[in-house]
Amino acid sequence: MLQGLVQDDHPLTLQHILDRMRRMYGDGEVVTLTDDGTVRATYSEVCERIDRLCSGLESLGVGPGDRVATFAWNSQRHLEAYMAAPCMGAVLHTLNIRLFEDQLTYIANHAKDKVVLVDDSMVPVLEKVAPSFQTVEHYVIMGDGDAGSLPNAIRYEELLADQPGGYDYKPIEDDRQAAGLCYTSGTTGNPKGVLYSHRSDVLHALGQCIADALGICNADRVMPVVPMFHANAWGLPHASMFVGADMVMPSRFLQPEPLARLIEDERVTVAAAVPTIWADLLRWCDEHKPDLSSLRVVPCGGAAVPLELQKAWEERHGVRILQAWGMTETSPVGSVARPPRGVEGDEAWACRAKAGRILPLVEARLVADDGSEVDWDGEQTGELEVRGPWIASAYYEDPSGADKFDDGWLRTGDIAAIDSKGFIRITDRAKDVIKSGGEWISSVELEGELMAHPEVLEAAVIAKPDERWSERPLACVVRSEGSDVSAEDLREHLRSRVAKWWLPDEFAFVDEVPKTSVGKFDKKVLRKRLEEGQLEREPVGAAER
Ligand code: AMP
Repeated sequence: MLQGLVQDDHPLTLQHILDRMRRMYGDGEVVTLTDDGTVRATYSEVCERIDRLCSGLESLGVGPGDRVATFAWNSQRHLEAYMAAPCMGAVLHTLNIRLFEDQLTYIANHAKDKVVLVDDSMVPVLEKVAPSFQTVEHYVIMGDGDAGSLPNAIRYEELLADQPGGYDYKPIEDDRQAAGLCYTSGTTGNPKGVLYSHRSDVLHALGQCIADALGICNADRVMPVVPMFHANAWGLPHASMFVGADMVMPSRFLQPEPLARLIEDERVTVAAAVPTIWADLLRWCDEHKPDLSSLRVVPCGGAAVPLELQKAWEERHGVRILQAWGMTETSPVGSVARPPRGVEGDEAWACRAKAGRILPLVEARLVADDGSEVDWDGEQTGELEVRGPWIASAYYEDPSGADKFDDGWLRTGDIAAIDSKGFIRITDRAKDVIKSGGEWISSVELEGELMAHPEVLEAAVIAKPDERWSERPLACVVRSEGSDVSAEDLREHLRSRVAKWWLPDEFAFVDEVPKTSVGKFDKKVLRKRLEEGQLEREPVGAAER
């Protein structure tokens, strides 16, 4: 073979992104909303602080490959950790602050986190679970608040102030080195770790920057509303730093008013969030009519984005929502719904209602139940499988997830059709989970907790469509003989066992849960009954955040 004469071995690392920020984009800006208004820093200042954070973490004993966890909202400090940990050779592990205590314990211990950087506002949540963390040696408190009962706590700002400044980065020679770790609770069983590499982060960031994806560029001011603990905030921090786009961080102020004000005041050009956030914001904006004219594009995904929501934004506020599809396992963006050239009007809307067109470097196929490949005719469906340089190849130290990988392809658990132009239309979900407000609820776990109630014989939990949250859990329960346990009783029973936003807001009492031929709960039948209005439902309280 005649080999090309190019620098094929040149590593693609986050150190390169850091270098660009420092050399070329020093005047870039990171804006964070706090209790006391916005705090601003230039990329020059951020880089200087990243250096200090690297030596600070080293002084705490963090070495190559060690896991540095964050338990935090989107902020400048979180961004600093995003770069410091991987660029010093460690691994950034973003803990999902919405998870229930047992899951956090499992995840922190499984990841063997050494240090946790925690927002002061999140200390009360973390201190409840911290005693069960077996490997954490230090907690670093971001902000001025109290460290509570967290052991070996040190303040982030003190840690940085104690450092001499500058940092001697050891070049990352092999870009396949791990850079980030993020667990997904999307499947049954224990949460699964997705371990990104420097190479996958860089290529995914580059993928986000192409015009047919999000087209992030130097002129942008990017606001990730999607949390930095959820699939790298869709890769937006990496992409923004890559091209020197400014970043606007909403921290924990995710209510419609502060978000709208941030967009207006900071002239945000790209704001990304799950459909629930845009549905809430729409109501507020209809009433208050803020100036959103700076918005160039609004990436939205994590769940199907209703066409009516997209149309309402465009028609009433001139804001263009761009649907994207992806998973934690796909870094996460795998497809973006930009209509092909020449397609306009209703046909274009039909494209935008889909999960999108597969991005360059990502390959997709549809696999039928019998293992055969399904044609891309836009009609026939199969399980969507993907592969490519930013798609997970295995879960981190968890062989139980091996069945999600099929001969080099990731099985997404989404059922889809693909048309001849590569547009994915998701039609169903093979995985038994519920996605509410962008986060997973495990139906299997809810069922287990419900069936732990002495008066529950059987419980099957299914997703019911919800305008605000995309989906909410509906618990279908068979009472034990003679019991008249109520929906309220069951909700109270669950309250101490699962995160409060998991609590079903509706129950359906049924005589029997339908079963498949092998005796498993047949949720397809329950879903069909729900669709046809044949499930008598009892509302019990509202969804809680
Ligand atoms: P996560 O790993 O939490 O990001 O969840 C990934 C899953 O969210 C996918 O496998 C889909 O089931 C769902 N999802 C993401 N984006 C979309 C979309 N645009 N339309 C429908 N479902 C989506």
